[in-house]
Amino acid sequence: MTAAALAKVLGPRLSITLVESSEIGIVGVGEATIPAIALFNKLLKLDENDFLRQTQGTFKLGIEFVDWWEKGHAYMHAFGPVGRDLAYIPFHNYWLRDQAQGNAGSLWDYSFNWLAAKQARFSRMDRIGDTPLAGLTWAFHFDASLYAAYLARFAQGMGVRRVDAKIAEVLLEPEHGDVRALRLDDGRELAADLFIDCTGFRGLLIEQALRTGFEDWSKWLPCDRALAVPSANTSPLTPYTRSTALDAGWQWRIPLQHRTGNGHVYCSAYMSDDRARELLLANLDSQPLAEPRLIRFTTGRRKQLWNRNVVCMGLASGFIEPLESTAIHLIQVTIQRLILLFPHRGDVEERRREFNRASQVEYEYIRDFIILHYHANNRVGDPFWDACRSMSIPDSLWHRIEIFRETAGIFCSPDDLFQLTSWLQVMWGQGVRPRSTHPFVEAVAPQDRAGYLRDLRGLFAQATQQLPGHAEFIARNCAAQAPASP
Ligand SMILES: Cc1cc2nc3c(=O)[nH]c(=O)nc-3n(C[C@H](O)[C@H](O)[C@H](O)COP(=O)(O)OP(=O)(O)OC[C@H]3O[C@@H](n4cnc5c(N)ncnc54)[C@H](O)[C@@H]3O)c2cc1C
Repeated sequence: MTAAALAKVLGPRLSITLVESSEIGIVGVGEATIPAIALFNKLLKLDENDFLRQTQGTFKLGIEFVDWWEKGHAYMHAFGPVGRDLAYIPFHNYWLRDQAQGNAGSLWDYSFNWLAAKQARFSRMDRIGDTPLAGLTWAFHFDASLYAAYLARFAQGMGVRRVDAKIAEVLLEPEHGDVRALRLDDGRELAADLFIDCTGFRGLLIEQALRTGFEDWSKWLPCDRALAVPSANTSPLTPYTRSTALDAGWQWRIPLQHRTGNGHVYCSAYMSDDRARELLLANLDSQPLAEPRLIRFTTGRRKQLWNRNVVCMGLASGFIEPLESTAIHLIQVTIQRLILLFPHRGDVEERRREFNRASQVEYEYIRDFIILHYHANNRVGDPFWDACRSMSIPDSLWHRIEIFRETAGIFCSPDDLFQLTSWLQVMWGQGVRPRSTHPFVEAVAPQDRAGYLRDLRGLFAQATQQLPGHAEFIARNCAAQAPASP
């Protein structure tokens, strides 16, 4: 992603070398994204249908959370709007006011994305008919290995030199400690002005060579292992990710064209690897296609994402578990930030400080959103979930939950990754209940309010019926070739 984007934007003005080792390979489990990836595709001018064909991709309208609040309960964090705001007051205030009397339906009856997702339907549309209501908002599921290969081809087409070799040593400048060059295992040396460390969890340059330091967040997000396994594809082809809470973590299910991606994220202090494997396999919807693969991690972030002449990206910069599919997005925004603050000349100290400050804010914001899912649970009697419910949480998250509890208020700034409807769905879905709504909702007469809500529900339901099936849409527009072998 980094080589492709830098080559596209800064093109022939930079000489870019991508070093990767086919012997080491990639982690290869990032398979779900969020809608902002469309901006990355646009930057590269990728053709969306071609990209989906090349990566066995499918569309994603949201994430369903099963058993998270309580066993037997499910809700969705659907992308896109929920309802439509009226007279400056966010929509959910009107809905909350009337749902208390039991005549406003579910919050998700007002989410076009949710309705389409649950009926396995999809189409690209900006608006619902000739109404001002937004159409569907989508992201993608794709095969991460195919995506990496696709972008490597793209980057090479843009002039990036690709070297398949192992880095044996990182060579530092003796006077000031910057990285001078990389020594490869065949003895070659690669010198450069700027190094971008994309070496995954090992952080070969940023940590092993520069000792930048890591801020550990496992006191809030204690899951530290994942077992990943592909399984056969199933029908219907659902356009959403499913996340099911288990005894000490959760299991993902990501439908692709040629297979389903699955994984169990768990906390090793509460569950053995054997038990985690057993649960993962027992919860698959279809035949496993390989042996589960174990991945160990620690949640947290690198203390500086830009240190000396090294910028780190991806897993080298930190890790937040894939509950809201944010890792690939973090790569994308870090690339954007690097392009904006690119160290092309002069003293770069202030640019570096700004880069590190903004990256920290971004990471912490996502961290809080993920903690919310764990903390606000009602799985009383499950030791792992009891511990999550009773842990102390960051003040920033506490403030957000309290303000929603007091007045149903949710406040985000335009740069925040997750906006009002994301917080709303997860807080409501995780059982956080406001004590009151905004008093201005009373300015709308009860019968007008009820009529407004009824009309919206009707429009969304009707529009959903007109959508084609997700599988049918893919077959028509972006069907990939069946892989040669599983
Ligand atoms: C369990 C799990 C599930 C995930 N699910 C999602 C998801 O659903 N959505 C999402 O957005 N993200 C997800 N992620 C994150 C996502 O997988 C990563 O952010 C993404 O794949 C980028 O990884 P990376 O390139 O930083 O590291 P890696 O994939 O580990 O790549 C490291 C690269 O460095 C090279 N390298 C390392 N050492 C050397 C060396 N000595 N010499 C030469 N080359 C070297 C390797 O060859 C490789 O190319 C998930 C991660 C995990 C662990």
